[in-house]
Amino acid sequence: AKMNRRGGYEYFTRNMGVEIRERVLLMHALRAAFEQKKLFLVFQPQIDMRDGRVLGAEALLRWKTDEGKFIPPDKFIPIAEYSGLIVDIGEWVLRTACMELVHLRSLGYTNFQMAINVSQVQFSHPLFMQSLNKALTDTKVPPQFVELEITESMAMKDPELLIKTLHQIKQLGMSISIDDFGTGFSSLSHLQKLDVDKLKIDRAFVNEIQKNPSEGSIAKMIVQLGQNLGLSIIAEGVESEMQANTLLSYDCHIAQGYLYSKPLTRDDLHAWLASR
Ligand code: C2E
Ligand code: CA
Ligand code: CA
Ligand code: CA
Repeated sequence: AKMNRRGGYEYFTRNMGVEIRERVLLMHALRAAFEQKKLFLVFQPQIDMRDGRVLGAEALLRWKTDEGKFIPPDKFIPIAEYSGLIVDIGEWVLRTACMELVHLRSLGYTNFQMAINVSQVQFSHPLFMQSLNKALTDTKVPPQFVELEITESMAMKDPELLIKTLHQIKQLGMSISIDDFGTGFSSLSHLQKLDVDKLKIDRAFVNEIQKNPSEGSIAKMIVQLGQNLGLSIIAEGVESEMQANTLLSYDCHIAQGYLYSKPLTRDDLHAWLASR
């Protein structure tokens, strides 16, 4: 192709066009999948590494297309956020996870904690607290067994709104954890002001332990920070015994990761729990 100014411009917009088109197509497909109830949740167990006790699970969203292909949430969640679809999808996630928790309780798992991801877009929606409240009353789930995971980057966008909303969530009786902790560069003074219960060490720092198990690891610093602030700590993405043992030596005893279990469908979770 000729490299004139116009040509360069066209080349640029043509490529942009492809990307935008792809995103729009994906957005329509996602909306259709959601309306046709083709999204579903899987549950990844959370374990006390000291005794292997199951403490609960994190609910994770899945989308399997009609062609049988899984679209990863890292790809479709941003599109759901960008298009606003996340508000309805997130509400569905919340209700469905609460319903599953009620079901698990009826099976005798009465101490089970359910962790639910909440997107920043969903969280800052004016009707969020209302829909949260309604999910609780409709499903009759005891709020103390529900934990909302928010991301650290959210903590910086609108501090006033965040502090207020976190307070309201705590008033309802739910707990809050900061997901992917350590990746969002939020300041310590800020963290201290937030009414949160738990820090979730990002998988990247758990991964780093394997390569560099030194005393100065970021995972260890996060554990110490959490302890100083009186927060509990969970590590995500624990894949090896070595990582688990190192985390235990840091005094972090809650974990989630392939070493214990992959995210499981509802039925598989029940079977997995029953077999323990
Ligand atoms: P996340 O909240 O950090 O979730 C943890 C991710 O790590 C999950 O990926 C999980 O399957 C994966 N994982 C767990 N253990 C291991 C391990 O040992 N090794 C490795 N390599 N990976 C592990 P997933 O399910 O693909 O979700 C990706 C992200 O999508 C989530 O990251 C979360 O940010 C977002 N997401 C998923 N479900 C929801 C949802 O219902 N609502 C919102 N807002 N976001 C969601
Ligand atoms: Ca999460
Ligand atoms: Ca995470
Ligand atoms: Ca992560």
